[in-house]
Amino acid sequence: MARINPAYRRLTAGYLFPEIARRTREFQAETPGANILRLGIGDTTEPLAPEIISGLHGAVDRLASRETYSGYGDSEGQAALREAIAAHYRALGADVRAADVFVSDGAKSDSANIQSIFATDNTVAVQDPAYPVYVDSNVIAGRTGLKNDRGQYEGLVYMPCTAENGFFPELPTEKVDIIYICSPNNPTGTVATREQLQGFVDYARRHKAVILFDSAYADFISDPSLPRSIYEIEGARECAIEINSFSKSAGFTGVRLGWTLVPAELRAEDGEPGELQKMWTRRQNTFFNGPSNIVQAGGLAALSATGRAQTLEIVKYYMENARLILDCLQSLGLTTYGGTNAPYVWMKTPDGMGSWDFFDKLLHECHVVGTPGAGFGPSGEGYFRLSAFGHRENIVAATERIRDQLVR
Ligand code: PLP
Repeated sequence: MARINPAYRRLTAGYLFPEIARRTREFQAETPGANILRLGIGDTTEPLAPEIISGLHGAVDRLASRETYSGYGDSEGQAALREAIAAHYRALGADVRAADVFVSDGAKSDSANIQSIFATDNTVAVQDPAYPVYVDSNVIAGRTGLKNDRGQYEGLVYMPCTAENGFFPELPTEKVDIIYICSPNNPTGTVATREQLQGFVDYARRHKAVILFDSAYADFISDPSLPRSIYEIEGARECAIEINSFSKSAGFTGVRLGWTLVPAELRAEDGEPGELQKMWTRRQNTFFNGPSNIVQAGGLAALSATGRAQTLEIVKYYMENARLILDCLQSLGLTTYGGTNAPYVWMKTPDGMGSWDFFDKLLHECHVVGTPGAGFGPSGEGYFRLSAFGHRENIVAATERIRDQLVR
């Protein structure tokens, strides 16, 4: 008799994006002529850089002849790409080696799967609000109880990120074992400083905890004083795993390519240095046959000098969108955060409105869709996220409508 994994029943329904879609559909049905502009989803919109297109085409062509055809590759990724990723980090001043790099089909699967190399009875701490995958993957793994009436899963440690602490959490007061940190942050658009990360690295070394650092938006940082990798921080190789992606910086949201760094020095409380790296190798060898060889060629092209120059131009384009959104909201006297080193603008809802009430207001008055902060965790209530990913003309039109039509 087959029985199901009961932990799945503890998951609350995927509420956020389905609910946004439902309310948007309903409004569209009631208002047939409305041209709804979507600043809700963190999906890239601009075409791939020419260098990447050429890298992808080259790999497709190599599959067309016996001499250059290739089949299965290493599940850790192609050696040349692993080395290029490590070199990319070294250029930032971060100590990363090719053997630390595990290429994948994206940061979402890695950030959901990485918890599987840790014991079920580890205590997990998450930023609140956070990218939902960290919480949900731990619920599925059986590390939590049910969601309580404060909107928190029992057994998880929620680290509130609020205006008071600049949206970066204080160190946990209790001993936790696994800590998720996302910087630049989705959804708040804020970036951890060196000192803030050093505090967590020191905590992790003191308590033999492991930090899972998601740097999917690192390329959106323009302030040179802000760290783009946890490995820029002293001691991080002993206590941190980093997850990153080509999705946001190179427009690979549909192409799919990411990576995870598991350094040889990393250790768990009850393990030897190197054991976690071996376990992640084993996990990937067992569950994964490596990313598509075509896509890896695209990744290699993205990391070439020409590819980097071209993709960073696209990043600049999105960051100009962010500036337009910030200007618009600030001109209305709204309180904003983020949006200068990350493609998300996080705003305080006016007059203490609930996140979902503001969602409805923006949709009905301006025909603009954003994301209610409450969907990312209880501390997101009273906030709202606007995404800078979009065609410029849509961002301009959305900001004009917000300026002219939002009833104040
Ligand atoms: N990590 C963060 C913080 C994200 O916001 C996202 C996507 O929105 C991802 C990871 C997923 O990245 P990928 O497309 O590489 O799976």
